[in-house]
Amino acid sequence: MSLIYLNGDYVPHEQAKISVFDRGFLFADGIYEVLPVYHGQPFMLAEHMQRLHNSLHAVGITPPHSPAEWEVILRHLLSAEQLDNAILYIQVTRGAEFPRNHLPSPNMQPTVMAYLVPFTPPTGEPAPVKVELLEDIRWLRCDIKSVSLLGNILLKLQSTASGAQEPILHRAGRVTEGASCNYFIVKDNELITPPADELILAGLTRQHVLNLARSAHIKVREQAFSTADLFAADECFMTSATREIIPVGQVGNEVIADGHCGPVTQQLIKLFRASRS
Ligand code: PLP
Repeated sequence: MSLIYLNGDYVPHEQAKISVFDRGFLFADGIYEVLPVYHGQPFMLAEHMQRLHNSLHAVGITPPHSPAEWEVILRHLLSAEQLDNAILYIQVTRGAEFPRNHLPSPNMQPTVMAYLVPFTPPTGEPAPVKVELLEDIRWLRCDIKSVSLLGNILLKLQSTASGAQEPILHRAGRVTEGASCNYFIVKDNELITPPADELILAGLTRQHVLNLARSAHIKVREQAFSTADLFAADECFMTSATREIIPVGQVGNEVIADGHCGPVTQQLIKLFRASRS
């Protein structure tokens, strides 16, 4: 990561500066997006652009660029950084203004930043991980990909402190998602994941896995499931852009089924990897 796209310019990262009065810094008033690039090709570009647009629209920030303009920026960064596999990070805040005021002025100029980090797509058999069941303490608009991630960070810290890789969150016994991933369970050969409502971020890896499963005639249900369903599952896995599909072998001290990567999870990992090349 040496080059940053910042408000229309490409600058070395040491020279990329934003105002201390930026509302992203003062209020976490902004949106972000994370998009993987495989072999020089952005993965699910249209879907990522739509999610960015939806999140900006939800908080009333005018989209600074069209999808076509974002693609030009991405391609410029890819060629400048000479990267084949990468993760594109986009950050858009409502902008900077002084004096500080919770109420933003109308028609603010957003602060717009994008950069790439090198990415090594997962290979080999992913080892099943341990996750920790925690209460979802976040706000009620988790469908917005907001930079306001303090709840997610506190939960991630808490799960890490108990030796888990990620929290698995629930609200009153209903499983939602992780700090930075979605969850699936398999029960009696059926794939079940919580619905894309306001309690979760509709992950695009989640979406892709659902599409792959339907194409492979795996039964799929987008439906809430309980923590009891989680403990009784035949398989469980998490999804995210940077980790793709990771089997879950253990929730707290409870082993899920036999703790190994189950056959449906294995099949989906194979399909996912075939689809990205
Ligand atoms: N849920 C949350 C809270 C996330 O932060 C993320 C990704 O960062 C996801 C789910 C997974 O989304 P995606 O598959 O688009 O990476």
